[in-house]
Amino acid sequence: MTEPSDASTSPRFAQVATYGRLPLRRDFVGAKSVFLGIPWDDATSYRSGAREGPSSIRHASRLVRPYNMFAGVYPFRVLDTVDAGDIDPVPGYTEDTFTRIESTLTPIFAAGVVPFVAGGDHSITLPVLRAHKAAGKEPVSLLHFDAHFDTWEAYWGTKRYTHGTWVKRAYEEGLIRRGHVFQVGIRSSLYSHDDVSNNSAIVERTFTSEDVDAQGYQPITDRILESVGASPLYVSLDIDVLDPAFAPGTGTPESGGLTSREMIHFVRELHRANLVGFDLVEVAPQYDHTGQITALAASNLIYEAMCALARYRSNASDH
Ligand code: MN
Ligand code: MN
Repeated sequence: MTEPSDASTSPRFAQVATYGRLPLRRDFVGAKSVFLGIPWDDATSYRSGAREGPSSIRHASRLVRPYNMFAGVYPFRVLDTVDAGDIDPVPGYTEDTFTRIESTLTPIFAAGVVPFVAGGDHSITLPVLRAHKAAGKEPVSLLHFDAHFDTWEAYWGTKRYTHGTWVKRAYEEGLIRRGHVFQVGIRSSLYSHDDVSNNSAIVERTFTSEDVDAQGYQPITDRILESVGASPLYVSLDIDVLDPAFAPGTGTPESGGLTSREMIHFVRELHRANLVGFDLVEVAPQYDHTGQITALAASNLIYEAMCALARYRSNASDH
């Protein structure tokens, strides 16, 4: 059993920052879930900076506490969570970096350990999903929270592996289950109307920010999770799904997004899902004029996702 260091004996501003003040253990032996950082932003299309995401999220996460009264769980205890450190990227070399990500994550998935990955730009989700397949697992259902489709073909005519193309690549590579790809929070302006039809060729259902407003989180998650059932679900959360008022620290902000409270409610619903992996990407703290609200939201959302999984596991073991 792992426990965060006790804030009543070691103040939370002391010691080296790990996620949730958990032990740093790269070998993850005995863990049922790991926090893992991928400080990489060479595949952005606008403003880089997400390489500072993992460290800023760890710093903000020193405030999370061991018990969640909404989920009724001690997530770190249930999941034996450790902070497994960062994957070293190869700056400037996307393919080499993706290889490192895939080879690090493959044994994690093979061992049935659930990774909670902090990016990094959104391109990192592709090698994480490749690792899931390389571990011999079936394709995942995908729940994708984002302001953007991320189903584009390429940037500048040539760059096919970017933060805006990973969903299309994952679909082409058979990493995600056909008919089981869902998006929530989409609202960005587009290059042309073709983007809409190209996206809907891949995505079963897109819930825009207007849909979130009109319907609320409950019916939307009901529809998605009923369709997903008990199949393995991977959740990828781009922090720009939040409104820039709540998450200014990101490379490609779009007005009119979700509040952090709405997003927490969406994530809490995941206690009904067979979550096999979760990532939170695109936190670029340099653009956060407050210093920390973006990383704070990210740290809380990762925590809520861990709590949702812990609740799912606790319920399963009750039966
Ligand atoms: Mn985005
Ligand atoms: Mn994205």
